[in-house]
Amino acid sequence: MTDLLSRDEYHAIADGLSMMTNSYINGKFVSAKSGKTYETTNPATGEVIARITSCGKEDVDYAVQKAKQAFESGHWSRMHPGERKAILIKLVKLMKRHRYELQVLESLDSGKPIREIATIDFPETLECLAWYAEAADKLYDQISPSTDDAVGLIVREPIGVVACVLPWNFPLQMLGWKAGPALAAGNSVIVKPASETSMSALRVAELAGEAGVPPGVFNVITGPGSTVGVALGTHPDIGAISFTGSTEIGRRVLEYSAHSNLKKVTLELGGKNPAVVLEDAEEMDDVAEQVVRAMFWNMGENCSSNSRLIVHTKHKEDLLPRLMDKLRDWKIGDPLDPQNSLGAMISQRHFDDVLHYIEVGKKEGASVVTGGEPLDLGAGLFIPPTIFADVTPEMTIAKDEIFGPVLTIHTVGSDDEAIDLANDTVYGLQATVFCAHGKKALRAARRIKAGTVSVNCYCEGDITTPFGGYKLSGFGGRDNGLHAFEQYTETKTIWLDLGEHEIDARLD
Ligand code: NDP
Repeated sequence: MTDLLSRDEYHAIADGLSMMTNSYINGKFVSAKSGKTYETTNPATGEVIARITSCGKEDVDYAVQKAKQAFESGHWSRMHPGERKAILIKLVKLMKRHRYELQVLESLDSGKPIREIATIDFPETLECLAWYAEAADKLYDQISPSTDDAVGLIVREPIGVVACVLPWNFPLQMLGWKAGPALAAGNSVIVKPASETSMSALRVAELAGEAGVPPGVFNVITGPGSTVGVALGTHPDIGAISFTGSTEIGRRVLEYSAHSNLKKVTLELGGKNPAVVLEDAEEMDDVAEQVVRAMFWNMGENCSSNSRLIVHTKHKEDLLPRLMDKLRDWKIGDPLDPQNSLGAMISQRHFDDVLHYIEVGKKEGASVVTGGEPLDLGAGLFIPPTIFADVTPEMTIAKDEIFGPVLTIHTVGSDDEAIDLANDTVYGLQATVFCAHGKKALRAARRIKAGTVSVNCYCEGDITTPFGGYKLSGFGGRDNGLHAFEQYTETKTIWLDLGEHEIDARLD
């Protein structure tokens, strides 16, 4: 699965691709009722690669109607879970067969390096879908403690129509994280991909149809969040919405729910995650490698990127040159060249935002250690890894989620100070602790207010472990693991009276 092709081979695949442009509703590709479309560009070249259907409220209403009909028909929702599993496994096999096409589509749409897509995003997406497929027929319900006179069945049921609103930074993977458990649980799903990165989700929906997912069960609706996202969030027939994106829009999704039908809401939002190097940390070379990956993987366009390096003063002088050394392995450029580990920023707007933060950092007095200026690679949106030293906690770059390749370094005199600074943020998604002393590392992990804390390595956990955030990083539930099923199922109690009252009465 991690078989990389050459740059020329990837470009040849790109040249021969047929682009997915229409929404996929009720098992068919359809255009918007208004006929509207919008351009999607390759951020690495600036070229328009396709015009995507721009749906409106009427298209959302149609998709929800079809998804609801599909749910109520029971063809998927009441199918034996083992059959659902078999169909989802078939989808995984089809995706594997079409891997080069899907990987290149993803790279063209997002500017992500093919190397990372082929070795991380794509295999993890397949693993995720297969894991939830396998889980479908292994989830048992419960029986309450009772006497012989009654039994309480505690059963989980699919909710109905579920909306999944996706971000642009991991389009395929987030599709897997959300649609995987939602479908495995028996729901009908409407996916709204980010406007910049719709095409891989459309192709997966088509493959799902080929695998045997019935029409109306797996829909992908394209168009702007300001219309499609709002229409999904406020729709009275959508029972749950799972959202990944900015905290600002996440708050609105909660409001849509409050003002419509109180649909279940799960939000996976931003982060300003710390990598904390405690006094007892060892093996600075490994630490440097992990810190660089934690920060710059996916160009820092990652909600769990470790954008604040909090380092005990004892290690600072040793660590900094090692960071610079490790950075040399992170080549930036053409995302379809597998030599490159860094690609383009997602959009002109986001590119401008990140550069603005870099300028603010300079103005507020932080010193640029490396980077700090955009790269001139034609019309592509490339920003090199940028590291700031002399950063104080109140600086804008130390507080705001930049969502780009910008690392701030903070030096502290004690482990307590390090933990306090790690927690000095409105977010709480992920943190990394480096410490060779097991007890101290565990104590630090306990004290950090974050949904995931990895120790002596940068990690978000894996498909078996829940992922989500404290504070402004999340709300309402977790992705991944069996915990994700909580998002997509209702709990029902069925109380059976087994007493023999009538029989007793007749015998009297
Ligand atoms: P948004 O929160 O705007 O977008 C995320 C998703 O929500 C997209 O599918 C978007 O659609 C949709 N959306 C947009 N507006 C609405 C709305 N009013 N109602 C419902 N859905 C809506 O993120 P951005 O793409 O603008 O990125 C901005 C910042 O958000 C980033 O810089 C980063 O800080 C953070 N972010 C965090 C992510 C994470 O992994 N937690 C992922 C992406 C961004 P559309 O694309 O059509 O606008």
